[in-house]
Amino acid sequence: MSKVLVIGAGGVGSVAVHKMAMLPTVFTEITLASRRQFKCDAIAKDVKARTGVTIQTAEVDADDIDATAALIERVKPALVVNLALPYQDLAIMEACLKTGVHYMDTANYEPRDEAKFEYHWQWAYHERFKEAGLCALLGSGFDPGVTSVFATYLKKHHLDTIRTLDILDCNGGDHGQHFATNFNPEINIREVTADARHWEKGEWVTSPALTHKQRFDFPEVGERNMYLMYHEELESLSTHLPEIERARFWMTFGDAYLTHLEVLQNVGMTSIEPVLYEGKEIIPLQFLKAVLPEPSDLGKSTKGKTCIGDIATGLKDGAEKTFYIYNICDHEACFEEVGSQAVSYTTGVPAMIGAALMLQGVWAGKGVFNMEQFDPDPYMDMLNEHGLPWQITELDQALDF
Ligand code: NDP
Repeated sequence: MSKVLVIGAGGVGSVAVHKMAMLPTVFTEITLASRRQFKCDAIAKDVKARTGVTIQTAEVDADDIDATAALIERVKPALVVNLALPYQDLAIMEACLKTGVHYMDTANYEPRDEAKFEYHWQWAYHERFKEAGLCALLGSGFDPGVTSVFATYLKKHHLDTIRTLDILDCNGGDHGQHFATNFNPEINIREVTADARHWEKGEWVTSPALTHKQRFDFPEVGERNMYLMYHEELESLSTHLPEIERARFWMTFGDAYLTHLEVLQNVGMTSIEPVLYEGKEIIPLQFLKAVLPEPSDLGKSTKGKTCIGDIATGLKDGAEKTFYIYNICDHEACFEEVGSQAVSYTTGVPAMIGAALMLQGVWAGKGVFNMEQFDPDPYMDMLNEHGLPWQITELDQALDF
């Protein structure tokens, strides 16, 4: 019996439970809990219609450690999969420690009042999870997640050492809206407007947000502008693969998205500093989220493909080689399969895979772990089997920018 409790009924949570229901030999019982029960019930109804599987639902405020622990005691899962927001990570980890249950998530903990994208708060739990004999797996989404597994796979099979690593995240999809974000707008905008940072020769190099632009020809998508950004897997990869001399993260943005963002930023709408409005403190970015389209609603109108992958250069048997490993995902095909667009799909499927490997004891350990600390092979096999097939190609030369 492998019971799982998923917390968070957003775009990612929806895909994850659909995919779990398609693997009933591993996920024998699924409970989906979130801040608002009706969101869980709507997802449960769709899961039943598509797969015939009944999932349980519950309402919980995951900021409340005792309430979450009480839910865990009632459901008695073997694993809690946290697909709520990064703000809830520490509270859910505490609830797992309190109840003696393994933990998994897809995004690093974020304090509400400051955008940080750092792992130290969660790494600080290592000893407590270790002493409790529990495993916490951090960041089993696509990026972070698959991008780290891609790096360890390249190192295991194609390169003896990795000298440079570039993670390229391209969403070539079009949702037909003037401005929308593909996952939680608050987290997405915090990430995009933060300073860019990359790892070079043992230190972080910082530059203002969205100032380094490169054009790149993505397979099956075509040429797009991509921008240097900070992304949390750079911290864990540079820690766990210390040989890497330079690690960078790039994401594509269209001109219209950037123009809207610039205006919103200039008028103060992306701020996370509270402002007083009619006697009540509100956070502009949270208000903005309320007026933007729900990412989980974008699926029906989104067309095009995503292409996310790693380019790594290093030595193999003394000779320099460069490999590009990537996945292509089609928004419309995702919507057809599980009713969500590809950004939720490319996160929800890896969440299901991480959970499956933990439940089966294939990925096991005592303490807090990042993706690159485990054997990539079983994960890579499951990506191929469960909707995110990957391709690998050798490039003639390293990136020249
Ligand atoms: P959504 O905003 O669509 O969903 C978040 C869900 O969490 C919502 O259902 C929300 O409830 C629920 N929630 C929020 N606060 C609480 C709370 N206190 N208690 C219980 N439930 C709560 O986000 P996404 O599905 O797009 O993203 C989910 C997670 O995945 C995020 O952490 C995001 O950063 C991460 N992510 C990771 C990626 C990766 O590649 N690694 C890529 C994309 C996302 P309600 O519906 O009531 O608001």
